[in-house]
Amino acid sequence: LATPDIDRSTLGLHSLEQYAPIIGRKAAERIAGKAERLSTLRVAHVSSTFYGGGVTEILTPLTLMMNAIGIETDWHLIQGTPAFFGCTKKLHNMLQGADIDFPEVDRQIYEQVVFENATRIHVEECDAVIVHDPQPLPLAHHIAERRMPWFWQCHVDLSSPHPPTWKYLRQFIGQYDAAIFSLPEYGQNLGIDELFVTPAINPFAAKNVELSDSEIDDCLSQHGIPPERPLVAQVSRFDVWKDPKGVIEAFRKARKEVDCTLVLIGNNASDDPEGETILEDIKRSIDDDIIVLAVDDPILVNALQRRAAVILQKSTREGFGLTVTEAMWKGAAVIGGNVGGIRRQIVDGDNGFLVDGVDQAAERIVQILKDPALRRRLGRRAKESVREKFLMSRLLEDWLDILARYQR
Ligand code: UDP
Repeated sequence: LATPDIDRSTLGLHSLEQYAPIIGRKAAERIAGKAERLSTLRVAHVSSTFYGGGVTEILTPLTLMMNAIGIETDWHLIQGTPAFFGCTKKLHNMLQGADIDFPEVDRQIYEQVVFENATRIHVEECDAVIVHDPQPLPLAHHIAERRMPWFWQCHVDLSSPHPPTWKYLRQFIGQYDAAIFSLPEYGQNLGIDELFVTPAINPFAAKNVELSDSEIDDCLSQHGIPPERPLVAQVSRFDVWKDPKGVIEAFRKARKEVDCTLVLIGNNASDDPEGETILEDIKRSIDDDIIVLAVDDPILVNALQRRAAVILQKSTREGFGLTVTEAMWKGAAVIGGNVGGIRRQIVDGDNGFLVDGVDQAAERIVQILKDPALRRRLGRRAKESVREKFLMSRLLEDWLDILARYQR
C-alpha cells in the first residue's frame, strides 16, 4: 500500500489567508473583520450524518473554518434507526415532490427518535443553533426555553413539494426563527423569516485540489478505468432523483455516434437507505462500456472530474448540486439536468449545458466529444463562475452576516 498523503487524508482545516490569493486580500480582510466582531459567539449545527451527501460536504469545511476564525462552533449528529432513516428518506422524497404516504406509524417513529436525541443534545449555552434538513427538524419543538435564534436549513429541491408533507412539517418549522433555503425560488411563505444561502465548495479539499496528469492516470488505473476512450462520468449518490437510468440511456444513445466509456461513481450516505437497492438495479442493466463504482474516494472523484471529457449531472430534482460546482471548478464541461440548483450554476451554452431529458443529454454528449475546443471554452467559463460565486469563503461570509443580524 502506498503511504497516505497527509494533506489529502485529513478533514481539511483551512484558514481564510489561504483564500486570499483566490478571492483577493481585501475580501479576506473584510470577512476576518466580520468574524472578529462575532468572536464571542458559540454556534451549534445539528445534522444526521458525518458521511455522504452535500450537507456533510458543506459542514466539514464550514465548521472547521468558523473555529479557525475564532467562533466556537460545534457539530452535533442525531442518531437514527433504520426505520427512522426510512421515514426521513420518505420526507426527503416528498419534499422533492414524490406523492407517497406518511402514515401515523411513520410520524410516531420520526417524532420519537428526534425526541430521544433531544434529551441528550445540549445547546443551552449556544448563541445560535442551525438544524439541517428534515431528519432533526422537530428538535426545536423539544427545547422549551430558547434565548438564542434557531435556524432550520433545508438543502433539498423545494420547487414543488408534496403539499400534505409541508402541512405536516410546518408545525415543526414554525418553531424556528428563520428557515434557510438554497435558492430564492424555494421560498415557501412560512410566516417566519426566510433566508437564502447558496452552497459552496472548499477548493483546498482533497476532492478539489490540483492533481498532476500522472496522479490522475495512476488513480484511474487503480480503479480499472481504461485510458483509451474518452470518459463520460456522473458522480452521485445512487438515488432516483440523480436519474442514473437516464444517464445510462443517454450514454447508450451517444455511444452510437462517438466512442466513449461511462463511469458512474457513488458513495452511500449513512442516512440514505435507498442507495443499495438502486445500485443493485443499475448493476443489472449495464454492459462492458459502463463502469459502476460504489466507493468513497475523494481523490477518485477529483481525478474523474478532471479527466472526463464530459461530466453529467442528469438530476430530475437537485437542491443545489455540489457535484456540478466541483466539476465546474476543475474546468470540466458539465451537462446538467435543467432543474433546481443546477439551473443556478449552469448558464446554458456559456459555462455548460442544461438538458431536459435523455435525447438532449445524448446530443450534448456527442457535441462536446466531437469538439474539444468547445469543451475547453465551457470549462474556462465554468471555473470562473465558481470562483466568483461558489467558494466556501462566500458561504462563511453569508453565515457571519446572518449571525450578526440575529445576534441577541
Ligand atoms: N460524493 C462523493 N463521492 C461519491 C458521490 C458523491 O464524495 O461517490 C460527494 C460529492 O462530491 C458532493 C456530495 O457528495 O460533494 C454530494 O453533494 P450534492 O449536492 O451533489 O448532492 P446530495 O448528495 O447532497 O444530494
